[in-house]
Amino acid sequence: MQFIDLKAQQKRIREDIENRIYGVLDHGKYIMGPEITELEQALAEFSGVKYAMGCASGTDALLLAIMAHGVKPGDPILTTPFTFIATAEVVSLIGAVPVFVDIEPDTFNMDPKALEKVIQDIKTKGGVMPKGIIGVDIFGQTADYDKINAIAQEHGMFVIEDAAQSYGASYKGKGACSLASIGCTSFFPAKPLGCYGDGGMCFTDDEGLDKVMRSLRVHGQGGNKYDNVRIGINGRLDSIQAAILLSKFSLFPEELELRQQAADRYGQLMGDSDLAATPFVEADNKSAWAQYTLLAKDQKLRDPILEHMKGKGVPTMVYYPKPLHLQDAFADLGYKEGDFPVTEDCAARVFSLPMHPYLTQEDQESIVKALLAFKA
Ligand SMILES: *Cc1c(COP(=O)(O)O)cnc(C)c1O
Repeated sequence: MQFIDLKAQQKRIREDIENRIYGVLDHGKYIMGPEITELEQALAEFSGVKYAMGCASGTDALLLAIMAHGVKPGDPILTTPFTFIATAEVVSLIGAVPVFVDIEPDTFNMDPKALEKVIQDIKTKGGVMPKGIIGVDIFGQTADYDKINAIAQEHGMFVIEDAAQSYGASYKGKGACSLASIGCTSFFPAKPLGCYGDGGMCFTDDEGLDKVMRSLRVHGQGGNKYDNVRIGINGRLDSIQAAILLSKFSLFPEELELRQQAADRYGQLMGDSDLAATPFVEADNKSAWAQYTLLAKDQKLRDPILEHMKGKGVPTMVYYPKPLHLQDAFADLGYKEGDFPVTEDCAARVFSLPMHPYLTQEDQESIVKALLAFKA
């Protein structure tokens, strides 16, 4: 059994993928070929935004987004410590300062009340006001952007959506990547919509931000290739990856349904287990189910459960065992254990079960049977 089965999907569209790759080999426009624009248009429409821009990875998408917002060295940027390193890494990379905000214990996303409190504390202490917020849609469910955007507006901050795990999700009827000034996603192979290498995309309704990001994507390009008007990066998406994504996108809406069905089956099979809580999805939300993440009822249970599952031949993963505020890479931010109690508790209790669109009922029955056979 595999944690994520990419082969089952490939089997369905192998010939189409090959034809599209041959198409790129034939026209030879490996960089910024016609597949890029085709993909950008298709995904902009799917996500309900005006502009979509392919880029080299989800990390670059976030980097381009904060650069487009003019983030400067020393600017504080709010985000959560319960995410993949890239979310806060890009902030530090340009010399800005990640400021962490604790999460909600049920959705694992930024807690708007904690966000208000962090901002009030900075004000009270006369600190530098944050320039913006990066909300993270962890495990496939979007954060609460109505609340986050309202708080941001009150304080004149921008909001960026890290939708690396939530492409295809929805929030109150609106698509992931359309919920903030810029939505950023990743096409890393294991994400809900993945390519066969690295890739990412930035989404926005703001023509100005789109223009600046398109310039930043190619070394701060101006009117032509050798006119540079700002410092940028080499952050383009390859034509071959866009070709592969166009093929995979044809299955994507169906695969989102299949992921939802797999999640529903897990929920039914788990019932009201006293070992672990099943994922909570807000009534107005639809998750893209990047992960199916359980919360062990007790910190002491998590690692023994993982050992037990290993013995049964069931792959499990922990996203994320070490919160960002406790990573050596962020030691200079001065955080310590106990600063974000909800994040720390969740990091010690979460574990994820195999999740992909082609999980069978039988596989899921044996996974849950193995789990429920655990005795503390
Ligand atoms: C995967 C991921 C990223 C980075 O995407 P890459 O394409 O791997 O660079 C950023 N944020 C989150 C939440 C992710 O899961």
